[in-house]
Amino acid sequence: MPNLSGKSTQSESRKLLGRLREALAEDSEGQKRLDRITSLIADSIATEVCSIYLFRDQDTLELCASEGLKAEAVHQTRLRLGEGLVGRVAKSGSIVNSANAPSERGFRFMPETGEEIYSSFLGIPVQRLGETLGVLVVQSKDARSYSEDEVYALEVVAMVLAEMAELGAFVGDGAALSARHQHPVMIRGGVGQEGTAVGNVYLHEPRVVVTNPIADDPQAEEIRLDAAVDTLRVSVDELLLGAVQGDKEQLQVLETYRMFANSKGWMRRIKEDISRGLSAEAAVEKEQSTARTRMSQVPDAYLRERLHDLDDLSNRLLRILTGQGKDTGAEMPQNAVLVARNIGPGELLEYGRSLRGIVLEEGSVGSHATIIARALAIPLIINASRITTEALNGDYILVDGEQGIVHLRPDDSVKAAFHDKIAMQTTAAERYSSIRDKPAITLDGTEIRLSMNAGLMADLPSLESSGAQGVGLFRTELQFLVRNKMPRRGELVELYKRVLNAADGQRVNFRTLDIGSDKVLPYMKPQDEPNPAMGWRAIRLGLDKPGVMRMQLQAFIRACEGRPLTVMFPFVAQFDEYIQAREIFEKVLENEARLGHILPERVEIGAMLETPSLAFAPEQFFEMCDFISVGGNDLKQFFFAADRENERVRKRYDTLNVSFLSFLEGIVERCVASGTSISFCGEDAGRPVEALCFAAMGFRALSMRPASIGPVKNLLRRVDLAEAKSVIDAARASGAQSVRPAVVEWISNL
Ligand code: PEP
Ligand code: MG
Repeated sequence: MPNLSGKSTQSESRKLLGRLREALAEDSEGQKRLDRITSLIADSIATEVCSIYLFRDQDTLELCASEGLKAEAVHQTRLRLGEGLVGRVAKSGSIVNSANAPSERGFRFMPETGEEIYSSFLGIPVQRLGETLGVLVVQSKDARSYSEDEVYALEVVAMVLAEMAELGAFVGDGAALSARHQHPVMIRGGVGQEGTAVGNVYLHEPRVVVTNPIADDPQAEEIRLDAAVDTLRVSVDELLLGAVQGDKEQLQVLETYRMFANSKGWMRRIKEDISRGLSAEAAVEKEQSTARTRMSQVPDAYLRERLHDLDDLSNRLLRILTGQGKDTGAEMPQNAVLVARNIGPGELLEYGRSLRGIVLEEGSVGSHATIIARALAIPLIINASRITTEALNGDYILVDGEQGIVHLRPDDSVKAAFHDKIAMQTTAAERYSSIRDKPAITLDGTEIRLSMNAGLMADLPSLESSGAQGVGLFRTELQFLVRNKMPRRGELVELYKRVLNAADGQRVNFRTLDIGSDKVLPYMKPQDEPNPAMGWRAIRLGLDKPGVMRMQLQAFIRACEGRPLTVMFPFVAQFDEYIQAREIFEKVLENEARLGHILPERVEIGAMLETPSLAFAPEQFFEMCDFISVGGNDLKQFFFAADRENERVRKRYDTLNVSFLSFLEGIVERCVASGTSISFCGEDAGRPVEALCFAAMGFRALSMRPASIGPVKNLLRRVDLAEAKSVIDAARASGAQSVRPAVVEWISNL
């Protein structure tokens, strides 16, 4: 097809697609179809070689059909991802077009194919929604670079091949021709919430299936596209009108939508693809696939977000064109494991406890969805790359929230091993439930109070089931995070009343709002801070803008209806912050009395110790403060200067590092000297070995996720704290960096 341009190229391209469609429509098996396609392409564009390589596993490409290369090489020639020019195309997801292939970087000559006589090479990734399924290659003897038009025509062909592969048109013998979405797949991600789950995939947003990638009548397709884009524009405008007034972020996203929906470049590219013979939906999907590949390569987070917006918009357009709604009528399977690219906190709450597990392609440990999954104790894996392209509704799936691994369509040996693991957990769970109503008393008779962390109404049933002695940390900001507008005081009173009622007389430590840092309220102006974890957050914000804090304190007092009240302020870094917060509380209390509200029979006002500075506060602080709760998550990140959300640095510093442990011991000593009660409420309190070491350092109250209470209590009841302390002291004296190895060894010999 050399030297063709404009309209004639388009009609050539359409002719090629027309022949392709005939070949695909023939009732034959996958291999025959592939053979037919390669010979048809070679003939159509007058080139000596046309080959199709497909993945046989994640890392290996296999030559599956060829016109021109030696027949005996088919299904024998294999390349690793990144190996040779074909491997390079697959790895980079971009085209290689060379007149002199042997001179190209990475060229690798495969003698069994007889390709040594071919000089020019054009390799095009066969991609669907940004996922590379294989490579389409043409080669010729004469040293020529394939023209832009030829490249373009083959890109369109590659797109059709990808669609047909997805629909199972090439299924045949051998791994490379096995049906898609049937292999077992193991994906390694990150742990958002621990726990294990066995279930069936339920896609949050099912994929749109394009069943007719090729169309004969470009005009009719353009009309369909224009009509769909009009519908899309109207729906985006409606969204804009309905957007929460003043919610800048939401408006910004919708404006981006509008920008793309009106973007000439985007439409032009789609229309060009249509004129080459693609159906409207296939053309939209081709553009979406290119954008996805770009997305994975863009380092700038802002730009990546905009490309995500474009992706969402393409999905909307595809749904309009195909008539496939978001709700495909797929029933939620039993034991549903939700699979999504990402999900908002509100949507996740709607699914609630009906889910066994959640697997997200994106997400982060500090995201709101993670906070909700934790509160609901649903195992969550984040950063599970490719999960949304690999998984189909109903697929069998194993979620290993301990290792951060997902097994999709696992084979029998993996299933068996996983079931063994669950059986062991069940046995342990039975053991924990048998001690649920027993106290956490060590062998030497020391009682450790174990309470739970909470923040959502969904947490409340755990008070009963876990055997927790009250709520050691109630993160009030979660209620603010899951709404799209500021809750009113009356609503808060009702919420806090429900919490106190559920606690049934047990202590509840309400923490005032800890917003800022990673917890940004959707309805508050975001602060553009370079380092939000050390920025204007928690009590800093509360003291500078005391309106919300006052409202919250009033709500606590009213919810108590005379019962005792305990309140703590987060992130107190120096004495005067505590004094000011306490003064505000006292004024609110006076005012409530004046308004005739019943006051709590007793009030305790505590501070969270989350910055090393507070450990060195004046004696008077410890005397004035009713109780101290160590927020180990923040304290540890500031002690080691290691971001708690940055896996790479977070894991570097062990909580049982002797410096940190001795620092904690010093804090306990100061509290004991001043008679201030002290507890520990960071995540580490829920890890049995850590909890034991904290108890050995003198902590007598720990607060943790409800699911951790059983394992922690089980260990505490088996140990003598004085012995544990001597093991720790010996490890410290030996110059060890962490006391963990010594303590773990000691526990294993109990
Ligand atoms: C902590 O920092 O340890 C803590 C309990 O608070 P949060 O995790 O909510 O910051
Ligand atoms: Mg904290």
